[in-house]
Amino acid sequence: MAYVIVDTCTKDNLCVEACPVDCIHPKEDEEGYEEAPQLFIHPEECIDCGACVPVCPTESIYPLEELPEDKQEFIEKNAAYYGL
Ligand code: SF4
Ligand code: SF4
Repeated sequence: MAYVIVDTCTKDNLCVEACPVDCIHPKEDEEGYEEAPQLFIHPEECIDCGACVPVCPTESIYPLEELPEDKQEFIEKNAAYYGL
């Protein structure tokens, strides 16, 4: 299980700083950052610690079991960013 970022993400990078295992990308200095519509969580590297949730000002990060019905597609979109 992993946490998922949805399309209300504004790419302010606060979650990147909060994540202890560095599983949120792309980072500002990585290729594709400008083009990315939002940030994505690596579903296999995320350790489900929840540290990213309270720092997100747009409430764009959800644990899988709390992901709203109309945001289910983002499970696949987060994984797809990593080619999974
Ligand atoms: S739940 Fe923890 S490990 Fe997963 S993305 Fe958020 S801060 Fe990183
Ligand atoms: S803290 Fe929220 S709005 Fe900011 S980059 Fe992370 S998911 Fe996007």
